[in-house]
Amino acid sequence: MTKQRIAMDVDGVLANVSAAVLGRVSLEVGRPVTLADVTSWNWLSRFGLSDDYFARTYCDLWEVYPPDAVEPYERRVGEYMDALCKDNQVDIVTGHNESSRHAVETWLKSHRIPYHDLIMHGCFVSKAGLAYDVIVDDSPSLAKKIAADPRGRLLFLFDQLYNRDIPSSPAVMRVVSLNDVIQHLSEM
Ligand SMILES: [Mg+2]
Repeated sequence: MTKQRIAMDVDGVLANVSAAVLGRVSLEVGRPVTLADVTSWNWLSRFGLSDDYFARTYCDLWEVYPPDAVEPYERRVGEYMDALCKDNQVDIVTGHNESSRHAVETWLKSHRIPYHDLIMHGCFVSKAGLAYDVIVDDSPSLAKKIAADPRGRLLFLFDQLYNRDIPSSPAVMRVVSLNDVIQHLSEM
């Protein structure tokens, strides 16, 4: 395997941020809301919640919630990232602003998740122009952009209900675990 430059997403890949907000959203809408309701990217709009509420919920999440309110998706995430970091340049590239850097760093450290650089890409800024060989992300819109214009890049799409409509293509491969990413890269 040749050394790859990997852009690893945080929200929806390493960190189960939607699970963290369910309690507050349930209070807001007056009924229990579960992960089964998170079936589209802008799922909050189905509950009549505004774009502003979406922005506050997701963009500011790391500054509003304590880091230990957010669980990793995978118990072995630290081991998987360690394996990826041994053979590759693995940057964590998150769609959050610089103001969230400290909280994200604290969370990564508390779960012993290794990485090379932490890039705060900025909220609502598309990652489609990133010059990485491999992107690991959960965003359906990013997957569509990479599929249409891969430029030699490969996107591993972290399986979520809200990205199930994205078909696999030469540039987009669905994974359910970072262990799948390790396996696929070892076969390249
Ligand atoms: Mg994400």
